[in-house]
Amino acid sequence: MEKLSNINNIKNILSRHGFTFSKALGQNFLINPSVCPRMAELSGARAGVGVIEIGPGIGVLTCELARLADKVVSVELDSRLLPVLEETLSEFDNVKIINEDALKVDFNKLIEDEFDGRSVCICANLPYYITSPVIMYLLESKLNAEAITVMVQKEAAQRICALPGSRQSSALTLAVNYYAKAKLLFGVSAGSFMPAPKVDSAVIRLDILKTPPVSVKSEELLFRVIRSAFAQRRKTISNSLSSGLKLEKAAVISALNDALISVSARAEQLTLGDFAKITNVLYDKF
Ligand code: SAM
Repeated sequence: MEKLSNINNIKNILSRHGFTFSKALGQNFLINPSVCPRMAELSGARAGVGVIEIGPGIGVLTCELARLADKVVSVELDSRLLPVLEETLSEFDNVKIINEDALKVDFNKLIEDEFDGRSVCICANLPYYITSPVIMYLLESKLNAEAITVMVQKEAAQRICALPGSRQSSALTLAVNYYAKAKLLFGVSAGSFMPAPKVDSAVIRLDILKTPPVSVKSEELLFRVIRSAFAQRRKTISNSLSSGLKLEKAAVISALNDALISVSARAEQLTLGDFAKITNVLYDKF
């Protein structure tokens, strides 16, 4: 197979298969030949490792992962891409394609069934319409995996990798920090894709933590507290928690005092440790 990342080869393959891009499925395919080898290398794909990919498209990243890892399992929702992938991945016998919605796949079962106890990495150029749901779905599944390396919109990458307690921090920053250590690896210009999206992208790596960095009495309550706090991020924490958690303002103020958190702080000023303290006090009080 001639080099897949060559734009003329990609156009030729797509036109032979009569393929048209679906905007709804976030189909922007990589055409910059330097991106996939770098991304695959940094994802941890290597001998002895199994890789899960989400959204292989025509297989540009899949090829690079298959060169490095023992086995790659790629989950693609668009069945029109199956015959394309059969052609583009024909030289590899270590790739399996699963035609499914990634948000419906039981990844714990997949890891158990497909990788014979190998260490597992996840690598994907994510469809942008489901960036946060996919990342949270993977993290909340508590997968026995080393790391999640994904291409996302540059703005989302900055938000996810922001320091909790900084201006760019968001509910997603805090949630990701509970499960993983996030690192921005490199930026990718909009012109690296066909069709070119309106915004630039970036590759991030989330190294999955063996144990969370804070201890909470209820994870569910922690995430409710975080979501409520950021739902009205311009309000003070006492106001946003009172309306988000449907609690009397006085009760919230008392809980914040017990947790030694300023009642006039804003969500973006708080660290994961602060949210854990608030959660544990609320858990005991209500
Ligand atoms: N990996 C390819 C590349 O880098 O050129 C394609 C990336 S493209 C941004 C996203 C891919 O995800 C598309 O192939 C799209 O069909 C697929 N996709 C969209 N929604 C999906 C879902 N819910 N589950 C699995 N794949 C999905």
